[in-house]
Amino acid sequence: MNDIALRQILIIEDAAVDNSQVMHSAIDAVAAELETREISVIQAASYAEAVPLVNNNMDLDAVLIATDMNLEPASAAAAADLLKAVHCRHGEMPVFLLADRAATAEAMSVELMRDANEFIWIFEDSPLFIAGRIEGAIERYRRNLLPPLMKAIWEYNEHNHEYSWAAPGHQGGRGFTKSPIGKKFYDFYGENLFRTDTGIERTSIGSLLDHSGAFGVSEAETARTFGADRSYSVVVGTSGSNRTLMQAVLAPRDIAICDRNCHKSIEQGLIVSGAVPVYMRPTRNRYGIIGVIPPSEMTPEAIAAKIKATPLSHSDDNRAYAVVTNCTYDGLCYNAAKAEKILENSVDRIHFDEAWYGYARFNDMYRNHFAMRGDPADHKGATIFATHSTHKLLCALSQASYIHVRNGRRAISFDRMNQAYMLHATTSPLYAICASNDIASRMMAVNGQSLTQEVIDEAVDFRQALARLNRDFRKSGSWFFEVWNAPTVTDPHTGRTYDFADAPRELLCHEQSCWRLRSNEVWHGFGKLEADWVMLDPIKVSILGPGMGDDGKMLDHGVPAALVSSYIYYQGIVPTRTTDFQLMFLFSMGITKGKWVTLLNALLKFKEFYDRNAPVSDLLPDLTAAYPDRYSSMGTRDLCDQMFAYLKTNTPGEKLNAAFDQLPAQALTPRDAFMKIVRDEVELVPSDQLAGRITANSIIPYPPGIPMLMSGERFGDAGSPQIGYLKALAEWDHQFPGFEHETEGCTVVDGVYNVMCVKE
Ligand SMILES: *Cc1c(COP(=O)(O)O)cnc(C)c1O
Repeated sequence: MNDIALRQILIIEDAAVDNSQVMHSAIDAVAAELETREISVIQAASYAEAVPLVNNNMDLDAVLIATDMNLEPASAAAAADLLKAVHCRHGEMPVFLLADRAATAEAMSVELMRDANEFIWIFEDSPLFIAGRIEGAIERYRRNLLPPLMKAIWEYNEHNHEYSWAAPGHQGGRGFTKSPIGKKFYDFYGENLFRTDTGIERTSIGSLLDHSGAFGVSEAETARTFGADRSYSVVVGTSGSNRTLMQAVLAPRDIAICDRNCHKSIEQGLIVSGAVPVYMRPTRNRYGIIGVIPPSEMTPEAIAAKIKATPLSHSDDNRAYAVVTNCTYDGLCYNAAKAEKILENSVDRIHFDEAWYGYARFNDMYRNHFAMRGDPADHKGATIFATHSTHKLLCALSQASYIHVRNGRRAISFDRMNQAYMLHATTSPLYAICASNDIASRMMAVNGQSLTQEVIDEAVDFRQALARLNRDFRKSGSWFFEVWNAPTVTDPHTGRTYDFADAPRELLCHEQSCWRLRSNEVWHGFGKLEADWVMLDPIKVSILGPGMGDDGKMLDHGVPAALVSSYIYYQGIVPTRTTDFQLMFLFSMGITKGKWVTLLNALLKFKEFYDRNAPVSDLLPDLTAAYPDRYSSMGTRDLCDQMFAYLKTNTPGEKLNAAFDQLPAQALTPRDAFMKIVRDEVELVPSDQLAGRITANSIIPYPPGIPMLMSGERFGDAGSPQIGYLKALAEWDHQFPGFEHETEGCTVVDGVYNVMCVKE
């Protein structure tokens, strides 16, 4: 484990620099003096060698570069690269240039002068003095490095040795150490977690609930970083953030205009608020990938028609709020600037649920496609909310989330909003979660551009590698997985069009237009699309197994994603999402090159199993051990064929499309349906008796994870796609044990799907 008190400095003496022996000895003397101050010294013999050290060592506190300032062009370029790496990774970390003044009087590179903090003339000052200046700079740097809340907690930990008589009862972890069981827990997590797990009586740090002290300072900094008027740090996930927001703005019987492709916390927000939902319907393509809501679903006419059509009683046209999931689970991002403009005609408050998308502001790739764009001072129009799961694609602990608010029409009073905030918060927040929010925010402020760019770069490399493999295999008459993005891209500056596989990396890594979906393109399959309405997020990578024709008709053979998913899972690779033919992988800041090469490798191995129809017992030994009768005499391709035949005859994809195409009839609001559960006025109903019944909870099939019915909605007749779909699921589970679907809101009893329905 790294000791946080340990300080480190990197000293670089590039061989190309003509440092005299005297200079060399002088540097040694400075290094020795630093060591006596317990600042450890790492040495590099060239600028190039120093770059990976700078890129990979986040414990560095300073860099010292020996230079004669009058570098050859090649060395000057290497030095410039090094300084770029320093600033990119380490922001304000002090950089010292060590030089011999006599040799440098006339020529100094402008870049070096600009990028260094301080020049040290090695022959004019004593090693003692130089080391002192370096130590001082390190202290100043460290003082500003930590964001406000983390700093306050750190200082509390360093200086506080009080006897507490308040909760938590473990008292800095002491309680755990009195039992062998507790001691294991204590040792596992380490002392600092426990020492800083203090009750809210410690007023020195401030309070999360009233946003005072370091908590308030931290939230204010976060608001500046994320472009909000006000940011709230939340420790109950974006589930809590969404409920909080909806609680703050919706009263019973108000109209909430909701994305049908929403997270369950939106339904929970409807339950706690008592609002009446009307839904904007997204599109869906032949692979079962859910697209965005088209603008035609957002127009004032469309929304007025939806409100008119709902049979649920509602306040006189109080359209209180609209919510859009951005980006979608499949990585499609709205042109939020445009979506806002359209929705503003119907509502004054718009919420973008950006749980998976908190990084968008930090890379120009996403220009215009996220909620908090530009400067809040320039904002006109509706009041805008964004909710971010900081723990999902930024770096924070689970449960960490932010609500960002940008006030416009029907502005929010923050004091009043805090009532809703407290209603969904806890009076005992774990400070480590709060601190991780604070850290995530500062990381994005300082390193956001480079961190997001690296993720995009890795994802593009993976996509291109996959596209090239696909092309090579197809050339030789074989098959391979396909990456889901445009097959060709055009450089808008030169007008040149490239195959995706051959496109310049720079173009794909920086040019948004390469990722925009255009109307009627075959690859995306969403048909007609408004221009500049949606882009695919490069870091959310879907790959497709063969089997689906471009016309939406299934081919003769195919590779269903369920089997591939099980295989790669068995290899220790976990996709984020699996639909009929789609596997999806998230590239995040934690990704490494090794990780995606391993994935490619697993896909190649799967292909090999398929091509030689290797026994399923080789592909998935655990599966055949669990179900020997079913699978042990089968080959991989045989099983693929059976699964494929199931998809072709039972058409669950088509049923789901049909189910999503026509929204079910609303009978009760989600709150009223919930009250039926509370009052015990519900019963479990098997799928063959569901016709016309009202479901008490929402039913969300995974994949694709979009609600088929929301709570309080009515099943159609016995032939309806919703009931047909549940039966098709049961048939799949029956035919393919070990590959059972997970369907939220259903209870499977003896292979039959049952749903908790309202007694009527
Ligand atoms: C995950 C998710 C949430 C809930 O976030 P948690 O931080 O897990 O509570 C809300 N909305 C969307 C769109 C999500 O994907």
